[in-house]
Amino acid sequence: MRAYIVLVGTELLNGMMVDTNSIYMAEELNKLGINIIGKSVVGDNIEEIIDLLEYIYNKSDIIIFSGGLGPTIDDVTRDAISKFLNIENEIDEFHYNKMIEKFKLRNIKVLEKNRKEVMVPKGSKVFYNEPGIAPGFYINKIAAFPGVPIELKNLFPKFLSFLKEKYDLNKELYIKDILFWQIAESILENDILEIIKDYENEIIFEFLVKDYGIIFRMQTEKTKKSLVDEIKNKIYNKLSKNIIGEDNERIEINVVNKLIEQNKTISLGESCTGGLITSKLISVSGASKVFKEGIVVYSNESKQERLGVKKETLERYGAVSEETVYEMLKGLKTDVGIAVSGIAGPNGGTKEKPVGTVYIGIKVDEKYDIKKYQFNGNREKIRERASLTALFELLKLL
Ligand code: ATP
Repeated sequence: MRAYIVLVGTELLNGMMVDTNSIYMAEELNKLGINIIGKSVVGDNIEEIIDLLEYIYNKSDIIIFSGGLGPTIDDVTRDAISKFLNIENEIDEFHYNKMIEKFKLRNIKVLEKNRKEVMVPKGSKVFYNEPGIAPGFYINKIAAFPGVPIELKNLFPKFLSFLKEKYDLNKELYIKDILFWQIAESILENDILEIIKDYENEIIFEFLVKDYGIIFRMQTEKTKKSLVDEIKNKIYNKLSKNIIGEDNERIEINVVNKLIEQNKTISLGESCTGGLITSKLISVSGASKVFKEGIVVYSNESKQERLGVKKETLERYGAVSEETVYEMLKGLKTDVGIAVSGIAGPNGGTKEKPVGTVYIGIKVDEKYDIKKYQFNGNREKIRERASLTALFELLKLL
């Protein structure tokens, strides 16, 4: 099945807004084995949208729009679609009534242009927009959804269920993702190619590099799940020290779950990561069961006052040193502790301690583990990589 994605919005063309919707949609469509043959960004202009539809309609099995379904004058997606298909728009009563209720509560008058927002081309299959006002719809190979990401994410799964049923799509598809950290993509690829070379005709393989790790994806029919399990076992045997988890697992989620499982509390003393690790942990639901505190001990003074790092240690070895990180860890009064001190740059590097030098200390009960790392990238990347590495090291120790 060939799909084409269209993102509508002048703000996406002029650089004021970054398109993330198509990435989300493409990932979800890929999971169903749908082939995306192209994507286009088009301004809020009815003629431009119709021109594009003329170009892509015949070569696509499905065309998916995001954006331009709102009430304002520049929201022209539905009109462009209905004009192209030569169909009139009609009010979707369900969304209309919901809008009336919503406006009543807020004491807002419903204007003519608000009625436009709840319209769909006549005969459309309508998808319920729980968080928003404009319905999603599908008609004659064309689907359209609001651009607001939270609304799109609410509507898109409903649309996918509809597609699956309508086209009897890969009901038997099986996807397995394995997530890696602390390994270069080229090395990972070599190691894995060695394992998968005998399975290449049966399974589709893919590497996806994300901020939170490298995903190795295997996709096949459900009947071949045992082959995937076989490859998975071989991968675990060879690369287990670099594996974060599978599918939707992420480092921070696994760390929090492990802490809950082992009934251990955690606290952090962060210098160059400035609370990033704390923030990642707290983003996981359930973190309150195990998280005691995260302290940003950025200055030397704070390292001394908050965590009891000795003045002499700082003077003798510097803030970015194994000795300082050890004392930071000692100052954390929980079962598990993470302490980080490093040089995120772009200034502050020296020959002995260049930008990217980071000491990460982990304490689990009375066991201390402190390592020195050299991260590449700009300030942001170094801080991000240090944060994920700290959590990954902890995950391994747990
Ligand atoms: P609304 O009913 O809110 O007007 P809409 O369907 O008209 O929704 P747009 O007006 O095109 O959608 O976009 C609304 C907001 O959604 C934009 O300001 C932007 O924040 C976000 N948005 C739109 N398109 C995208 C996209 N492709 N990727 C990420 N965010 C987007």
